[in-house]
Amino acid sequence: MAGKTELPPLQFDHFFTYDEVTRFLNDLCRARPDLCRLDSLGRSREGREQHLLTVTDYDSGCPEDRPAYVIHGNIHAGEVSGTHAALYTARQLLLDHGSSDLLQRITFYIVPRINPDGAEYVVTTGGRVRSRTDRAERVPNTLYQEDVNGDGRICTMRQEHPDGEYVPDPLDARLHVRRQAGSSGPFYRLFPEGLIHDWDGSERFQVEGRRMDWNRNWSYDWRPEPEQSGSGDFPFSEIEMRHMAEFLHGHANIFGVLGYHTGPAAMLRPPSTGSLDDLDREDDQVMEDLARIGAEETGFPVTPVIKYHSARSRDISLRGHFHDFGYHHLGLYAFEFELGTAFNSAGISTEEILSGRTDAEWEAQERQVFAWWDSLREQPPLFQPWEPFDHPQLGRVEIGGPLYPYWANPTLQHLRQIVEGTYRFTLAHAGRHPWVVLEDVAVDAVGGNVYRVRARVANRGKFPTHVTNKGKGLRRLRTVRVEFAPGEGVELISLQGHANLGHLEGLTGSRLLEWFVSCRQGTADLCEIRVLGGTGGRTRRLITR
Ligand SMILES: [Zn+2]
Repeated sequence: MAGKTELPPLQFDHFFTYDEVTRFLNDLCRARPDLCRLDSLGRSREGREQHLLTVTDYDSGCPEDRPAYVIHGNIHAGEVSGTHAALYTARQLLLDHGSSDLLQRITFYIVPRINPDGAEYVVTTGGRVRSRTDRAERVPNTLYQEDVNGDGRICTMRQEHPDGEYVPDPLDARLHVRRQAGSSGPFYRLFPEGLIHDWDGSERFQVEGRRMDWNRNWSYDWRPEPEQSGSGDFPFSEIEMRHMAEFLHGHANIFGVLGYHTGPAAMLRPPSTGSLDDLDREDDQVMEDLARIGAEETGFPVTPVIKYHSARSRDISLRGHFHDFGYHHLGLYAFEFELGTAFNSAGISTEEILSGRTDAEWEAQERQVFAWWDSLREQPPLFQPWEPFDHPQLGRVEIGGPLYPYWANPTLQHLRQIVEGTYRFTLAHAGRHPWVVLEDVAVDAVGGNVYRVRARVANRGKFPTHVTNKGKGLRRLRTVRVEFAPGEGVELISLQGHANLGHLEGLTGSRLLEWFVSCRQGTADLCEIRVLGGTGGRTRRLITR
């Protein structure tokens, strides 16, 4: 272990800035240069690197030659615990390397933060943005988030107004409830903390849109607004997403994909549009089996994306979403973990969260979160007391309220246990990788200078090389090809040298190949056999006399 240093600890006490993520990844690479390297998918819109950590055992092979599993997090700006989950995975893979040979067989490509700009905005200000932070093209009479009272946080402003939609909750003054007929005041309007750009002084100003949603910007079944809100101008119109797509399509060795999000805790599986019947039946079964492992390891419910909605709405259909992209475009089993929110941390189940049909039910759950919060010795910063403030435009307001990033993520104290579970799922999913190997290589002298070379090309991994049945028809999932390269002074006398074996089934799929060669006296190297196994990896063998 000469030259290796201790792995950096992963703290679960705050959400990380870009610099902290960068430092952690560099520290991992410094500690185990034999197991991980840091690259970038590209630069974000604001010029930050989209870090890509490649984890594999470099001493015994190169990453592109091995089946590869992709983990990404934090496509949604505020869902910063996804970064933690991805970083935990990276660190744990390095720790487990001594007792497992996984990194000698496969590669992990880890993108902890697809959206470094959005995440930085949320981590450093507490402001709310779904994906994109670009607010350069400002619209008149529109309120844009800003830390107007200079306390380092973007909170909520409340202003008393006769038309106010909200009244303080009679049961918990920290909360607001919707105004009903007969409610007594004071009535409040609620806005994000901010300033109105180019305000005409009227009451009719709007609040900045934050609907752009990169998890609607994937290419499969992409639809423009308003058919799919947040979808962007065209598939992969967002540079960060384009980098991701180019990476995924540029690596034939990728056999599995997992994304990290934070919503009510769930193990999400396809489909994200249509119905379960649209999936190949066998694929659906494998998907469900895998998702159940994720559910067992985390205690989260298995939920197809189309069913991940509150009881108020019908089945959802998310166009241009990761799950359908992962299945229909990549031909892979694509999963996402929703790591949970403060509601889950407060002991409210996802089923309860999603079953809420009325405002009153929703409000009761918010009270439950506060009751739980009050009982904690160490309180995450969920709430900022309301403080009066003289707003330069709106006059007298109060600033405070719920702190968005801490509601939208599971509590950090709970996160470690959650990601231990998601890590075990990753090992189970990744452990099924296709694995194309060369076996039973034999050379026989036939007579004279003629030799027979035989080799079996087999897939000894659990998944077939096409991974899903859907994948059989996709160009991205390459069939297994064998290249035959005769040595110097060696002549192939079989009719065929190279071979395309098609796809190989899992565990039992193999083909026995045979070549006849003649060679000059004294030639030692008969040939090299190179196997390009797509998702099963690549291998080569020099065959000598
Ligand atoms: Zn999300």
